Amino acid sequence: MLALGKLLELTLAGREPTEKIQLTSGGVRLHWLGEGALDVTPPATEDSGLDLLLSAGVHGNETAPIELLDRLVQAIARGQLKPRARILFLLGNPEAMRRGERFVEQDINRLFNGRHAESSGFEAMRAGELERYAAAFFSKPERARLHYDLHTAIRGSKIEQFALYPYVDGREHSRLELARLRAAGIDAVLLQSKTGITFSSYTYAHLDAEAFTLELGKARPFGSNQEVNLDRLEARLHSLIEGREPEFDDGNLDGLQLFSVSREIIKHSDSFQLHLAPDIENFSELPVGYLLAEDIAGTRWVVEEEGARIIFPNPRVRNGLRAGILIVPADV
Ligand SMILES: [Zn+2]
Repeated sequence: MLALGKLLELTLAGREPTEKIQLTSGGVRLHWLGEGALDVTPPATEDSGLDLLLSAGVHGNETAPIELLDRLVQAIARGQLKPRARILFLLGNPEAMRRGERFVEQDINRLFNGRHAESSGFEAMRAGELERYAAAFFSKPERARLHYDLHTAIRGSKIEQFALYPYVDGREHSRLELARLRAAGIDAVLLQSKTGITFSSYTYAHLDAEAFTLELGKARPFGSNQEVNLDRLEARLHSLIEGREPEFDDGNLDGLQLFSVSREIIKHSDSFQLHLAPDIENFSELPVGYLLAEDIAGTRWVVEEEGARIIFPNPRVRNGLRAGILIVPADV
């Protein structure tokens, strides 16, 4: 296998490869751009016209998706997987990956869309760097642009695998992409209604890519991910990479549950209290009238929405950030 196929090993060891560019026997060019960043270019005659950005490790302890990208990179470097798409592999937070932590100083996935410029520290710098890698990669005109930012969640979930679809004013969510996610084993999609500060929000809003945050199960240490079943997603990625995606019916979203954001619960002060069990699962239903949270100056968050569910509850976020999202069922 080519040395650049060991992107994960290099990244975890904090090492720079001696050769930055290598060619597989099939003429696929691998280019190490910097820590945790590998650019893959198929031979011009094979190019399918797809630019595919695959990122993982934006949260350093979410190992199942990191291991998935590692398998893809290795298979390409061995010549077993023959790309016909341009691909950019990004491992988001190498230092947090080495420590087995979600982040070191602050959550990178709250630092995109300009937020990093208002902050400091190496995670802010890394967010800026990830934006620049993505912008350079998605700079070629007239190509299909797709970004999957792969995560696992802190907690268990009533719906195991789901996607967050970013939002930008005046742009419609794509039915074809929803059907593609369904075919990749995704059970639910949360359609967002304002532009966020995550990596996929940045590539969606600024780089005109179709972009998704994929939540693929619960975060566990390296080597303990047997219960996270990524088979369908992995098969779909293989076919996208090799330009032989099986037909799917883009009118058929059967079995795909859609949700929209009703409200984001923002933590304003240290007095913030979230009235949920610490181990509550994502997508747990909350009854109308339920007192969800309380904060300074008598602020109360009471559920008013029929069919409301909670995702990403986390009372330990910094003040001013979201401590959970109340979602409701939606139609396309
Ligand atoms: Zn994550």
